[in-house]
Amino acid sequence: MFCDCILPLPLESSLTYSVPAGLFPQVGQRVFVPLGKTKHYIALVVRVHDVKPDYDTKDILEVMDDAPIVLPSQMSLWQWIADYYACSLGEVFKAAIPSTLKKYVKPRARRSQGGTLFETSPMHALSEVQSRAMEQIKAVWRQQPTCLLHGVTSSGKTEIYIHLIDEAIRQGQQVLYLLPEIVLTTQLSDRLRSVFGSRLGIYHSKYSDAQRVEVYRKQLSDEPYDIIVGVRSSVLLPFRRLGLVIVDEEHETSFKQQDPAPRYNARNVALMMAASAGAKTLLGSATPSLESYDNALKGKYGLVKLLTRYEGLELPEVEVVDMSEEIRRKTATGLFSSRLLAEIRHTLSDGYQTILFQNRRGYSPLVECKTCGWVPQCPRCDVSLTFHKRLGRLSCHYCGYTTEVPTQCPQCETESLRTKGFGTERVEDTLAQIFPEARIQRMDLDTTRSRSSYEKIIEDFQEGRTDILVGTQMVAKGLDFANVRLVGILDATAMLCLPDFRAHERAFQLMAQVAGRAGRHAFKGRVVLQTKDVSADVIGQVVRHDYEAMFRSQREERLCFHFPPFCRLMDIYLKHKDEHVVEHMAEDMAALMRQVFGERVLGPMTPPVARMQSLHIIKLSLKVELTANPSAVVARLREIVAHVKSKDAFRSATVTLDIDPL
Ligand code: ADP
Ligand code: ZN
Ligand code: ZN
Repeated sequence: MFCDCILPLPLESSLTYSVPAGLFPQVGQRVFVPLGKTKHYIALVVRVHDVKPDYDTKDILEVMDDAPIVLPSQMSLWQWIADYYACSLGEVFKAAIPSTLKKYVKPRARRSQGGTLFETSPMHALSEVQSRAMEQIKAVWRQQPTCLLHGVTSSGKTEIYIHLIDEAIRQGQQVLYLLPEIVLTTQLSDRLRSVFGSRLGIYHSKYSDAQRVEVYRKQLSDEPYDIIVGVRSSVLLPFRRLGLVIVDEEHETSFKQQDPAPRYNARNVALMMAASAGAKTLLGSATPSLESYDNALKGKYGLVKLLTRYEGLELPEVEVVDMSEEIRRKTATGLFSSRLLAEIRHTLSDGYQTILFQNRRGYSPLVECKTCGWVPQCPRCDVSLTFHKRLGRLSCHYCGYTTEVPTQCPQCETESLRTKGFGTERVEDTLAQIFPEARIQRMDLDTTRSRSSYEKIIEDFQEGRTDILVGTQMVAKGLDFANVRLVGILDATAMLCLPDFRAHERAFQLMAQVAGRAGRHAFKGRVVLQTKDVSADVIGQVVRHDYEAMFRSQREERLCFHFPPFCRLMDIYLKHKDEHVVEHMAEDMAALMRQVFGERVLGPMTPPVARMQSLHIIKLSLKVELTANPSAVVARLREIVAHVKSKDAFRSATVTLDIDPL
């Protein structure tokens, strides 16, 4: 007897082992296997058969499980992911299984997260508009499996989810509630815990491996969690009776895994998963992705709108401040317009809270010599170094390299280095000088390295121990504070000029989401939006809270230039430490691709950051018609990659395929 096994390695295919007498491996069980002369791995059995391969096989050494730990439904989803997202089944296995289960240890099942007793509190009764939306969602589901809920910020989407979850679990179904990582932490999980108690399992990347093993094991048991609230990778968990999948903040790009493979989009995997389980899916957002909204308008998904805030509260008033004008009139002090300062002062003295948003961390994104224009660069990447004042260092946001701040310019030897531009650290500093009495905190990657520091910032703000919260996009995500009256967007210009066809969509989503943090409970909020592009379309759309207008104008552009949602994109990245090698390889690759795909091939081109971690990068793109079978296209692409990589000169190059890149 033989069995085919996948190893948690980027191997193209499974490996066949022989089964010695006395062992009875089953599909979905883990086995302990040798590889090469000295290595051993925990592998997963994907097929058991009697076909002797034409090479000498090694024996499996041990069967690790009494019962399969991967269900057939999971296995077929994983296979779909591997085919669609151009990776190996081993890479999916690696991403799906907590690390302890991939090591040679037999962990004991741990106590459930919730314990047995839990004091739960009743759900809120839905308002009339909310109930109507819920009925509409259910009516959609009677016709088709997927519904998009477009509900403005603070319309009570989460309350509707809670009611739908409640109905599903009453019918004995399991629910998967998918969230971007940052939204799940603290507030939302507390809210769900208080309603569903120990029926809820949380699957979070910041949880320990032991906690993840516990969730994984419980999902396989006879009494799995009724509800899993989790981040992207929870679509890889086992479910036996999945009835409902909710994808909250469905527009969030963090549902897409960038590195390493599998480079999957959990929203799309969730849709596949629901389809094969016969489950319903609800995608929810105040600012849906262009792709999803287009699908809804085409009738591929049902569409339900909830365009008023809970209790009829008005959306915040957005005031645009022309920074060019303020600078000319010298009414702006550095980063702040006189308008924004006046509003902050007002908000402070009335005892309300303020959120200030600047989508850049650090003190300043670059340092420059006033005399000769020299700018310190990362030695490993083609980017300038960001100045971090607290650390007193320059650091690279791409590879983590850090270095001391030079006291004089190494090029002209004058002492005329100055900082240019601003990040959250500088906002915080400047603000503290202007409002010494205000209690200010900053929330960005640098201040939230640990889960507890993140939770503390949220808690302080929630309890009113902080007056002003300064942050990157982290402050825009799903947070619900009662006392925020003012939101300041410090620099909309930086978001609008990114070299990406999604820049305007993203800018709108970010600004609408951060604006949505103001005035959520009892009073109308206010937003001050600082920009040098007062006439940009997207600014007007944010002011009018006009998602539809943003959608129409962006859709028009995408149609014109033939970008998603009118085609599918596939990106190919080639990397090598030698610039010439990667250039030659890209030419070969482009030529072969053009033979097969013709005009659909774009490039070779240099990405905005052309060198990272000492590797030179060249990009090729493929625009594929929506009518084409994506897995077939991916298979052809992989053949071409394999062919090019088989040449000696290119063997040491790295090639990554990114399907539906974001
Ligand atoms: P969204 O998810 O659409 O941003 P939330 O569900 O967070 O909105 O609702 C915003 C705020 O209003 C929350 O604090 C929520 O508890 C409250 N809220 C919404 N609907 C109700 C309701 N039906 N009863 C009581 N409170 C509600
Ligand atoms: Zn100089
Ligand atoms: Zn770097």
